[in-house]
Amino acid sequence: MDIDFDAEDLAFQREVRAWFEANTPPELRRKTITGEMLQKDEIVRWQRRLDAQGWLVTGWPQEHGGPGWTPTRRYIFDLERAAASAPIGLSMGVIMLGPVLMAFGTPEQRAHYLPRIRRCEDWWCQGYSEPGAGSDLASLKTAAVTDGGDYLVNGSKMWTTYAHWATHMFCLVRTAATGKKQEGISFLLIEMDRAGIEVRPIVSIDGEHSLNQVFLTDVRVPKKNLVGREGQGWDIAKYLLTHERTSIAGVAECKALLANLHAAAAERRSGGRPLVEDAAMRLKLARAEIELMALEYTNFRVLAATAAGKAPGPESSLLKTMGTAVQQTLSELDIDIAAEKAWPWRERGEFGRGRYAHAMERYCYSRAATIYGGSDEVQKNVLAKMLLGGGAR
Ligand SMILES: Cc1cc2nc3c(=O)[nH]c(=O)nc-3n(C[C@H](O)[C@H](O)[C@H](O)COP(=O)(O)OP(=O)(O)OC[C@H]3O[C@@H](n4cnc5c(N)ncnc54)[C@H](O)[C@@H]3O)c2cc1C
Repeated sequence: MDIDFDAEDLAFQREVRAWFEANTPPELRRKTITGEMLQKDEIVRWQRRLDAQGWLVTGWPQEHGGPGWTPTRRYIFDLERAAASAPIGLSMGVIMLGPVLMAFGTPEQRAHYLPRIRRCEDWWCQGYSEPGAGSDLASLKTAAVTDGGDYLVNGSKMWTTYAHWATHMFCLVRTAATGKKQEGISFLLIEMDRAGIEVRPIVSIDGEHSLNQVFLTDVRVPKKNLVGREGQGWDIAKYLLTHERTSIAGVAECKALLANLHAAAAERRSGGRPLVEDAAMRLKLARAEIELMALEYTNFRVLAATAAGKAPGPESSLLKTMGTAVQQTLSELDIDIAAEKAWPWRERGEFGRGRYAHAMERYCYSRAATIYGGSDEVQKNVLAKMLLGGGAR
């Protein structure tokens, strides 16, 4: 892949930069820089603004409303968005379900759901993990049993991010208990307002509520909500996970965060001098920068493969593992730079909603990055199997 931008790319970069400069609401910018959690209405408003500009579903093909950009332009777009401290706004519909429906959905499912995802009319959550099925996802027990033209679904989903905001859940369910356990899994779309669904909050170590456990008791779901064939759920789940893992790497976000850390280290003082002049701090910043450059070049390889029409392979696990390690390194540096200001009550008390008001929350939440989307240990197993032979989850 040619990573030098040509004149047209550079013009595009200027256009994107100017747009974000003019259109990113200051409150969203502040929250992105400080790490404060965004609320649903803020994310929806922001996504609709991007959609109105034609810039929300940047990875989707043009026939479904994508802008038809080259991978280079998508990369430029992401860099400029993050550099402007404009949020990406987590959307499982855009990143995960959209590509699945394009690959496995019926024409009716595509026609119904894709425009609604693009216009943010539906909020999707991911119902994969269960109390006894995380890394060993194929052990999932939530059962969908045929009852006339419907399924009756019973079971429980765990760690379901934003289930309390969601209007819909894409869900892995067991439709057969015989044969290989992977073969009895199906991919089902469930409206969250159906009778028999209960969402219970889980407050995480950062003190926020984004996680939930979802209980499904005799939930009636029409068979038209099945994606693909009965028993095809495992293949669909794996396809979706490659998209999820590639998106988790967050190269643009890391670059923007590192630039912010450099600026913060130049502002903070230690021993009467700017902290950035401290030898130990310089070494830490340099190491983080080198790790990030390595991540960025791996990302280029994935972009090149995508540009050549290939689906992401082992690189998605590599990106996920490297990207989350860099995210954690950067969040640790943030705390190092914040020092005594990292205590939230101090920063909030003295400076109101200051730069470091949510640094400790971001640090705590970033511990989960090496778990969600498939834990580090499991990603390393996947990589070993894919690169050294033997198949993979
Ligand atoms: C913040 C957050 C958000 C999440 N959001 C969602 C969501 O929206 N939807 C969803 O479906 N899930 C979600 N998850 C769940 C996530 O995918 C699982 O937590 C993850 O897959 C690990 O599963 P587990 O928690 O059951 O841990 P386990 O699978 O029980 O693993 C426990 C430990 O054992 C290790 N381990 C397990 N198997 C192996 C092995 N074979 N070799 C070596 N080590 C192993 C793991 O690495 C881990 O350290 C989320 C998790 C978090 C933390």
